[in-house]
Amino acid sequence: MSSIVAIVGRPNVGKSTFFNRLIQRREAIVDSVSGVTRDRNYGKSEWNGREFSVIDTGGYVKGSDDIFEEEIRRQVSLAIDESDVIIFVVDVEEGITPMDAEVARLLRKETKPIFVAVNKVDSSKRMDDTFEFYNLGLGEIYPIAGMNGSGTGDLLDEVVAALPVEEEVELTEGEELPRFAVVGRPNAGKSSFINALIGEDRYIVTDIAGTTRDAIDTRFNQFGFDFNLVDTAGIRRKAKVKEDLEFYSVMRSIRAIEHSDVCILMIDATRGFEGQDQNIFWLAEKNRKGVVILVNKWDLVDKDTMTAKQFEDKIREEIAPFTDVPIVFTSTITKQRLLKALETAVEVYENRKARISTSKFNEAMLPVVEHNPPPAIKGKYIKIKYCMQLPTPTPQFVFFANLPQYIKDPYKRYIENKLREMYNFSGVPIDIYFRQK
Ligand code: GDP
Ligand code: GDP
Repeated sequence: MSSIVAIVGRPNVGKSTFFNRLIQRREAIVDSVSGVTRDRNYGKSEWNGREFSVIDTGGYVKGSDDIFEEEIRRQVSLAIDESDVIIFVVDVEEGITPMDAEVARLLRKETKPIFVAVNKVDSSKRMDDTFEFYNLGLGEIYPIAGMNGSGTGDLLDEVVAALPVEEEVELTEGEELPRFAVVGRPNAGKSSFINALIGEDRYIVTDIAGTTRDAIDTRFNQFGFDFNLVDTAGIRRKAKVKEDLEFYSVMRSIRAIEHSDVCILMIDATRGFEGQDQNIFWLAEKNRKGVVILVNKWDLVDKDTMTAKQFEDKIREEIAPFTDVPIVFTSTITKQRLLKALETAVEVYENRKARISTSKFNEAMLPVVEHNPPPAIKGKYIKIKYCMQLPTPTPQFVFFANLPQYIKDPYKRYIENKLREMYNFSGVPIDIYFRQK
């Protein structure tokens, strides 16, 4: 569970340039899945050994040139609700604009750590112009140049120092419960699902505060299931404040997703699988969480025009290349397959924890790679000699080869498909690495 840093500020100050710099290095190492073309307003970063998530809230605000005050207010309040630390980016070329002053006014009321990054300080000449920004009334200022990275190190030193201390979740042996987060767009049926499970008798037994201030685990112990439902204060508040902007629900899911083992992604069958569903799915995948997709409100679908199989095929097209994901058709009204949904989530949880012994794994995989080795390059044969599952929290596999640098993505996909055929990793993102032996 990592902390969340939000970047706020008006358009064109350089938020996305800075954001890309923050997530770049990390992405290069971790994101081995190629061809991800979705908007990058969320990413993982790491500084001084501390991992955290970064949200560029401005990246979600479209048509950003004539951004309204109302939009700014939303962006800032979202950042305040959903993050642990806020970086407020301003532009030294422009000085303090009325919009900057408005953001500062909103931020001054908050107690969360706020860092003013004065961007585009490319030369020492511009250093003199930065002092004006003390007038924002937010304390220390940090001159940076997002473009070339200067000053960002000093800023990040302070930012990570201000992140909340990550408490170890103290669990005694055998007490470790799966953590499920029910996520999805507004109106998909998430509350109805939870209410249907809880029933009038309130089977929920305890409310225990989670590892951070505003993530709450609620224990569910009924019908032979025992797990924690992950909720966040932000998501609860949503019920009161009517959000008309869909993407905010995605942001509100971030903390719940990070805090969970398995995400139960609910979609509304009458609307199909849309862009925001895809974003939430991607967040789960990116965080290497288990995923179950529930196609809810199945009672409303005319089964003559749309069959479950057709629906499934369409979803799998949207979520490719990670398509090995269970899809369950539910209705919270008729209570159709609600327990099946939980069963599936438990199965995914187990799949994600599965560990294959090294000897068994070699026995199974070596014949596969011998039968179909990576294609030779420049007359050089590539030989995989040995493989193993790494002792990591989520399934990761390493294959040792003489020339790992010549093994290309299609071969990696081939290995992944084979792995998924031979073992049950349904609903679980897996990582495959090739290393020098
Ligand atoms: P956003 O709208 O706040 O996300 O801003 P962008 O990251 O898209 O940047 C807006 C413009 O400022 C772009 O033309 C960037 O190239 C430029 N920019 C960003 N960072 C710097 C910097 O450190 N120095 C200079 N001179 N320009 C920058
Ligand atoms: P949330 O915003 O995801 O928590 O969605 P809600 O649980 O508040 O549900 C939104 C609306 O959809 C409510 O009017 C529910 O009664 C309705 N709804 C939820 N699940 C179903 C379902 O399976 N079938 C039908 N027909 N309606 C549903």
